[in-house]
Amino acid sequence: MANENQKDHPAVRAARMPLDAAQLEELLDHVDDAVLTDGCDHTLNATEAWARRRGLDVERLRQALQRYGGFCDCEVLMNVDADEVLTLPRQPGRS
Ligand SMILES: [Zn+2]
Repeated sequence: MANENQKDHPAVRAARMPLDAAQLEELLDHVDDAVLTDGCDHTLNATEAWARRRGLDVERLRQALQRYGGFCDCEVLMNVDADEVLTLPRQPGRS
C-alpha cells in the first residue's frame, strides 16, 4: 500500500496542491461564504468559480482537492485543511 504512505507525506501532499497557502486560505474563505449563503449543491461550483476568476487551472485544482476528499464545496470546507495540505518541510536557517 505505497499509496497510503505517500498520501501522508507532507511534501507529497503540498506538491499535489496547485495553490499556495494564501490562495488556499482565500479559496476556503470564498467557499465558506458561498456555502453559508447558498448551501452546497453537491458540486464544486463555488470552488471552480473562484479558480476561474483567479485564472487558475480549474481541472488541476479539482483533482487536487478530490485527493483530500473535497468532492463538493462543503466537503472542501470539511476535508481540506490548509495547514495540513500545505505543511512544507521547514528549512532551518532561512530567514
Ligand atoms: Zn456538499
